[in-house]
Amino acid sequence: MSENLAYSDAYAATTSAHVLGADEGAVLLDVTVFYPGGGGQPADTGWLRTDDGVTFPVTGARKSGDDIWHLVEGDLPAVGASVSAELDWDRRHALMRTHSALHVLCGVVWRDWGASVTGGNMEPLAGRMDFEFETMAGELVAEIERRVNVEIEADREIRVKVLPRDEAFAIPDLIRTKINLLPAGIEEVRTIEIVGLDLQADGGTHVSHTGEIGRVRVTGYESKGRINKRIRIEVLDR
Ligand SMILES: [Zn+2]
Repeated sequence: MSENLAYSDAYAATTSAHVLGADEGAVLLDVTVFYPGGGGQPADTGWLRTDDGVTFPVTGARKSGDDIWHLVEGDLPAVGASVSAELDWDRRHALMRTHSALHVLCGVVWRDWGASVTGGNMEPLAGRMDFEFETMAGELVAEIERRVNVEIEADREIRVKVLPRDEAFAIPDLIRTKINLLPAGIEEVRTIEIVGLDLQADGGTHVSHTGEIGRVRVTGYESKGRINKRIRIEVLDR
């Protein structure tokens, strides 16, 4: 089992670790900062560096049970080696801003239009969310963008918690999102709360305050049917 600092501290950009396994282009560490992907957020990239100065580029990561494997092309570090695991922080931080921006969008659209989210996806500084949003129309684009940026400028705190299953399932705000899709056996639920705006069950990495997102531009929307609407955003510097 790999300990992943990303779940408790999204700002951990590097850690020292030991290689537990190396197999077919992938490296298992005892502790890592790499997010393995999930919930629409892509896996991190970065580097593993050995104490004697050899660098192995990491092109991605994936989860296998409780293990996190780092995808490395070419030579692999030896099992037992000590390495530092280091994120491509610019890319990760851009993903944290984007992921948090999508939560703000989700919170605003639910609060002001009662539309619930059905899915989403992102790359650094661009993302999309799908809503059950029958009344979505072109003239709402500018208004949604304005209200999202109001919440960003309010610099709301974003809190991470891990709750026992029963406690999480008793929170009405969580039940409207994807919590019902969680595996039956899961005992703890990680939650992300934008204080006063949004609460979701979520495994990803986020910034600590909405102000750090910068600014959001709603770049458009598409109808995926009468009810289902996809909204696209871009994340810009303030
Ligand atoms: Zn999230």
